[in-house]
Amino acid sequence: MSTFEINQLLRDNIKSLTPYASARTEFKGTADVWLDANESPYDELGYNRYPDPLQKELKEKLAQIKGVETQNLFLGNGSDEIIDLLIRLFCEPYEDAIITFTPSYTMYITSANINAVEVLELPLTATFDLPLKELEKVMNSNAKLLFICTPNNPVGRIIPLDIIASICKKFSGLVVVDEAYIDFSTTPSALSILSEYKNLFVLQTLSKAFGMAGLRIGLGYASVEIIELLNRIKPPYNISQATQELALELLKDTSQREQSIAEVIEMRNSLYIELKKSSLFTKVYRSEGNFILVQTKYCTPLYNYLCKKGVVIRKRDIPPLLPNGLRFTVGLPKENERLLALITQFENENLY
Ligand SMILES: *Cc1c(COP(=O)(O)O)cnc(C)c1O
Repeated sequence: MSTFEINQLLRDNIKSLTPYASARTEFKGTADVWLDANESPYDELGYNRYPDPLQKELKEKLAQIKGVETQNLFLGNGSDEIIDLLIRLFCEPYEDAIITFTPSYTMYITSANINAVEVLELPLTATFDLPLKELEKVMNSNAKLLFICTPNNPVGRIIPLDIIASICKKFSGLVVVDEAYIDFSTTPSALSILSEYKNLFVLQTLSKAFGMAGLRIGLGYASVEIIELLNRIKPPYNISQATQELALELLKDTSQREQSIAEVIEMRNSLYIELKKSSLFTKVYRSEGNFILVQTKYCTPLYNYLCKKGVVIRKRDIPPLLPNGLRFTVGLPKENERLLALITQFENENLY
């Protein structure tokens, strides 16, 4: 049984923290003359003022798109900032730990390392599912956070919602479900069970399906208590004015976005079929993300060959479970065709 209790999980220094009070958080109301924040009074492009620290307008738009309440939403400078903030909220350096799985996204580990927080890294099963028995053994350790990536990067495999729910029931820390690729999947988001578990935190991003990696906007969903704690420790102006405005502008065109997502899914599925035909790959994994992972003993020569031809892919050599992996992001139709043509050329001309 989970004995999750937010005050027990929280670091002592955060419990007693007086948050930094920025000019724009202290004054709430309307005014004509702003002489509180040492800004320049000269306005050239509309960026001489500090931005809304709590991104009210952008959150309202996102809450509406995602079907959540704004009070359950936190925005970070990319999800990477949210990962770091969660670790700093709950993990005492040199004492506490996080639980992660391998192979998976490695930012959780880097962020823990930066914060001097221990990492309990559990290998996934041979089918890239969660190792539930091993997980049980470390659940009652010094681990405060547990990171589950679904669809999992770099394989693209889903962790089913009922498994996530059962982990929330057992783990006394916070379960962070990273859904960076959820829009490419047919599986429902963990947002559908968010209100049932106080220790569930869902992480999403505008960097992938929403096409805004350059803007840096990550989304965190959780109970009001957790969102308020994040607001206490975040850098006051973590989302710039330009970012908030551009995101609002780009979020307007829902049908365009839905169409690009549908196209990526279709291209991913046909890329899978084409890659399966090549004798170079010992394994081509089905993916619910916007990428496909393969394994090949020609990992390095193929990688080098593609680079030489101006096509950059990602090497994912993660032994023992995933040696010699290559990850292809789904691109535009002509880019995927170029990739496939080069792979065929590499194969036919024995360039390895
Ligand atoms: C790409 C990715 C992210 C996104 O990070 P941002 O900082 O929001 O760009 C988060 N998690 C995973 C697993 C990813 O692959």
